[in-house]
Amino acid sequence: MICPSCGYLLQKLSVTTNSGGKPACAGRFDIDHCGRCGGTWFNPYEINRIPYHEVVNLAKLTVLPKHQLHTTNTHLCPRCRIELSNYHGESIPARVTILRCNKCHGVWATQKALEAFKDKQEDTIKEYKMSKVAFPALSVVFVPALFLALLFFATFVTTLTLQQSQEQRIQATQMMTNLQVKPISPSIVSVTFQTKSPVISIISYGKSTLQMKEKYISATLSSSHQLLLTDLEPNTVYLYKITLKDLAGKTFTSKLGSFITTF
Ligand SMILES: [Zn+2]
Ligand SMILES: [Zn+2]
Repeated sequence: MICPSCGYLLQKLSVTTNSGGKPACAGRFDIDHCGRCGGTWFNPYEINRIPYHEVVNLAKLTVLPKHQLHTTNTHLCPRCRIELSNYHGESIPARVTILRCNKCHGVWATQKALEAFKDKQEDTIKEYKMSKVAFPALSVVFVPALFLALLFFATFVTTLTLQQSQEQRIQATQMMTNLQVKPISPSIVSVTFQTKSPVISIISYGKSTLQMKEKYISATLSSSHQLLLTDLEPNTVYLYKITLKDLAGKTFTSKLGSFITTF
């Protein structure tokens, strides 16, 4: 494949995803890197998965020529050979240009852009940590749909729901089995779980706990619950909690969890 920026041949490299200390969550995937201009081509979603230390490693691999590179004004997708377009997303800082192919959804980032993008991601995670809204490990947040099913069991203690008793939250979590929060497309996430006894279920979700939307998952008593959350913003972290109402009208609300929509 040909580098969209400088026309040099891209080199296939295998990088590790951040395991967050859990080897079971570690994975590898291939990227196509230009050793001449330092740019990197990602398959859809994979720009989210590359850990910061791998970005630093990539920079070391690049042999930047001393003379100014001849760069083209049009950047062609190395796969489809059509022109890449500017990609704007909430997680992409304004000063950073990330290009995307509208056909195959591959993503091209120059070395500088990739570093800035990853910097912003790390900052976002730090902000979450500081605001005491516990945030899942990088591997949990920035993995593609395939892994999410396994990893989104994680629920997180938050000081924001202190009014709720710990006991009640534990109960809510115990009532749910097979909770899966899976991105279907950049704007749609599917939520499914089962309960031992029939309950009414409601999900609250939003980009912060101050602006949560509520939706019924099951508006009538049911043991099997599923809902598609639509109109979400791509590549965005959402917080959510699930409230269950049993036959006796007692309510149980889960701990705050989070998911990230895909690119
Ligand atoms: Zn290049
Ligand atoms: Zn393409």
